[in-house]
Amino acid sequence: MQAWDVIVIGAGAAGLMCAIEAGKRGRNVLVLDNGKRVGRKILMSGGGRCNFTNMYAGPENFLSQNKHFCKSALSRYTQWDFIGLVQQHGIAFHEKTLGQLFCDDSAKDIVEMLLREAKAANVQIALQQSITGVSFADGQYTVTTAELNRQCQSLIVASGGLSLPNLGATAFGFQLAEQFGLKVLPLRAALVPLTWQPSDKAVFEEISGVALPVTAQANDTLFPEDMLFTHRGLSGPAILQISSYWQPGDEVIVNMSPQTDLAAFLAEQQQAHPEQEVKTALAKLLPKRLVEKLIELQVFTNQPLKALNPKTTKQIADSLHGYIFKPNGTEGYRTAEVTIGGVDTDYLSSKTMEAKQQPGLYFIGEVVDVTGWLGGYNFQWAWASGWVAGQYC
Ligand code: FAD
Repeated sequence: MQAWDVIVIGAGAAGLMCAIEAGKRGRNVLVLDNGKRVGRKILMSGGGRCNFTNMYAGPENFLSQNKHFCKSALSRYTQWDFIGLVQQHGIAFHEKTLGQLFCDDSAKDIVEMLLREAKAANVQIALQQSITGVSFADGQYTVTTAELNRQCQSLIVASGGLSLPNLGATAFGFQLAEQFGLKVLPLRAALVPLTWQPSDKAVFEEISGVALPVTAQANDTLFPEDMLFTHRGLSGPAILQISSYWQPGDEVIVNMSPQTDLAAFLAEQQQAHPEQEVKTALAKLLPKRLVEKLIELQVFTNQPLKALNPKTTKQIADSLHGYIFKPNGTEGYRTAEVTIGGVDTDYLSSKTMEAKQQPGLYFIGEVVDVTGWLGGYNFQWAWASGWVAGQYC
């Protein structure tokens, strides 16, 4: 039987950060992971460049049943702390948009940075570990794998969510939470493309590849970003963002021209070019293939601008400012970036991430019911919650 102060399950963003911090405190730390490599999601994140944090990250960018829970960790280990670490390791980065920071070169830089920090803190890492059971007796946890039993005082669950099962995602953390009496809130895929109803698929798949800036709204939440038509449905940052707020059966209301009042624009165009057709005028602002498709769908009628009256102008404008899609569902965990729901924060201390009723058991990162928006927020939660647990475990 091996004895450790701390065992961390999951060598992802949260687990590695926690292990580093605990190791720095002189704790004897082992990280176990089922994969062949550490930080597999980091490596594939941000198109291979890892959107590792967001300059504007704050509690308002997170979904959770208890929206206050994330405040403590986020304020004690901020984006600026992580940016400082990245700078200390000489990793070049840039802001892409909306405060999103990406490596200039490769996500590998972040994983290598974490591995250097882990080595300096004497953290041990064991890969390809298949955990068959966890038990608790006399203040010690026993973690069993096929080969051996290991004991520890503090057990950190950093096994992530359910997205990308082919990258090693498992329900392990949720099952362990339930084993120790913690509630797990319903799980669903988020930051995920939405799929067409069969009737819409037949119509819209022809314009797959068309992208435009929109606002996408579901349930009183609205995101202004780009939207992309795909063969399967709608994607792009605006749709990924709204997918976290969308529930089956809900509509998504898309404003296809959020910057320009189309009624005013069409009125101006009518004055300047009365012989021009509606589709020619609209194609100055919107993708031509989309305009043609909407005419084919009889969302509005193509006609010379001079034939429009204030009522028909308003009808065209309204149909584009508030186009309603009714998605069939989402692409699910196969392509989702994150899992919404997870370990109920009521059962955890927001100061330490320790289970309130189970001393020495900690949950960090995506396994917890805290989910960030698209844009580096999920990694910031992983760093912050991992850092916090690392101070106490
Ligand atoms: P993970 O990083 O998922 O790590 C969990 C680890 O636990 C994994 O290594 C897994 O193999 C291991 N594990 C699971 N089950 C077991 C088990 N039974 N036994 C042993 N080990 C186990 N967020 C951003 O902020 N910016 C981005 O650019 C970004 N891009 C993304 C791109 C993609 C394609 C995806 C899928 C996600 C992206 N995310 C991004 C989200 C982000 O990757 C996650 O929120 C973050 O990795 C969660 O960190 P974590 O440490 O909690 O879990």
